[in-house]
Amino acid sequence: MTQPRNRFARRNLIAAAAGAAGWLLGRRFVWGSTQAETPADPQAIPWSRSVPVRYQADVAVIGGGIAGVAAACAAARSGAQVVLVERFAVTGGDLTAGGVANFCGETTGQGEVFDEIVADLERFGAIAPYQHPYPKQSTRVFDHHILATVLQEILLRRGVKLLLHTPLADVVRSDDGRLTAGILCGKSGPEAMEARQFIDASGEADVVRRAGFPVMKGRPQDGLQLPMSMMFFVRHVDEQHAQAQLPEGWFEPVRAKEDLPMTSVWPNGPGSSALKVKIPGFDSTDTESFTAAEIRARRRVWEVLDYYQQVEKKPWRYDGCSPQIGIREGARAVGRYVLSVDDLRAGRTFDDAVARGVFYLDGHKPDDDKRTYILSKDQLHVPPYQIPLRSLIVRDAKNLLVAGRCFSADQLALSSARVSTTCAMMGQAAGIAAAMSVEEGCDPFDLDPRDVRRVVEERGARLEN
Ligand SMILES: Cc1cc2nc3c(=O)[nH]c(=O)nc-3n(C[C@H](O)[C@H](O)[C@H](O)COP(=O)(O)OP(=O)(O)OC[C@H]3O[C@@H](n4cnc5c(N)ncnc54)[C@H](O)[C@@H]3O)c2cc1C
Repeated sequence: MTQPRNRFARRNLIAAAAGAAGWLLGRRFVWGSTQAETPADPQAIPWSRSVPVRYQADVAVIGGGIAGVAAACAAARSGAQVVLVERFAVTGGDLTAGGVANFCGETTGQGEVFDEIVADLERFGAIAPYQHPYPKQSTRVFDHHILATVLQEILLRRGVKLLLHTPLADVVRSDDGRLTAGILCGKSGPEAMEARQFIDASGEADVVRRAGFPVMKGRPQDGLQLPMSMMFFVRHVDEQHAQAQLPEGWFEPVRAKEDLPMTSVWPNGPGSSALKVKIPGFDSTDTESFTAAEIRARRRVWEVLDYYQQVEKKPWRYDGCSPQIGIREGARAVGRYVLSVDDLRAGRTFDDAVARGVFYLDGHKPDDDKRTYILSKDQLHVPPYQIPLRSLIVRDAKNLLVAGRCFSADQLALSSARVSTTCAMMGQAAGIAAAMSVEEGCDPFDLDPRDVRRVVEERGARLEN
């Protein structure tokens, strides 16, 4: 399902033209709509403001999840000046703010950035030992609080300019699909960041959407995305110190196991457990729906905790939930190639391969809160498959790559490739391609993909079986 170019696109054409004039006025962009625009929505109001150009980069990475961190680190390793823009206080995205705390799939051969992250977690004694991903799909649990420190330090070691608490609000683009600036909205107020190459690692394809390029979202028949899940954490205590119960009249207590939403429980270090609760039916690309998901999740967490305390008599004390609900699927860019589930099933290889996935089709049913999947159990396995560079290049853009869970794939292909290890691989490849484009004075689609692949492999990514 694609979205038509929205009014952001028209607005940005105006802003870009105004921005060019702004160069003469002391390097300020004019951001926003102008009186010249006639909005299609009669409720829309025109507005504009002049924005100082505060940052200039060879490569701008938007989103500091595992994909964005890998992209920024890889581009910096290639010698590019890199700015990484993250809306939260920490990098790591789903893995830290979302509390996921677990690497699935293969944790070796994902590239040198991922290797360095794992090595640093090992130095802290904060990650489970290596397990081969076959025949059983292995996982490596880690301490997500320590990951937040590890990620910021690797970025700083490599000279990446890191901006936290800084949402990207908009972009300035020309009508031939070239992005010239991102509009950042941190605590200093709106500021422009110019860059030669952009990487959208926002998970929701925010850059792609702000630029007005098409995206895909959800399952084909109704656009429903893979469900979100909320992580929460409990401490094991003696009965005397167990939590006060859910106050009467609050939420909808669960009294039978079959009424619980899908809940996974696993150890979270000594004397502590982590629980994951499925929250289907919401859209992380829609402000109100996303808000409703967080509210629903924080209620559901208490309902589930209350069940375990009251019915299963667990002496648990609530240690809190992750600051943000975990998002499996937001919006996916339309790239030069859309990776499909058939490619995965065939274990397809590509001449321009830059990443590899090994995880099964983990496609939770979008409209059901039980342990249900889009496919039956015997259809979940896929052999190792490759991801082409073309799936990381936004089709209608000149200088915009994507990495991580907003890359160009159908929903079922994403259900495998969204695991953090594969997102890290895509990030490293996108960072290498962006830096190479800057060095060669061209755009990512004009690169010889064999050169990108060679560097990706030289930097430790295993693309072959
Ligand atoms: C419940 C759940 C369980 C999972 N379990 C596992 C597991 O066990 N193992 C595994 O490997 N994977 C697991 N995954 C998948 C994996 O965690 C994610 O798919 C992966 O980490 C996504 O990485 P990313 O960098 O693409 O996106 P994200 O981690 O979502 O990062 C995107 C970043 O961009 C930032 N951002 C977004 N918009 C903007 C903006 N406009 N301006 C600035 N910054 C912005 C966000 O704050 C975030 O930091 C799970 C996912 C979920 C939701």
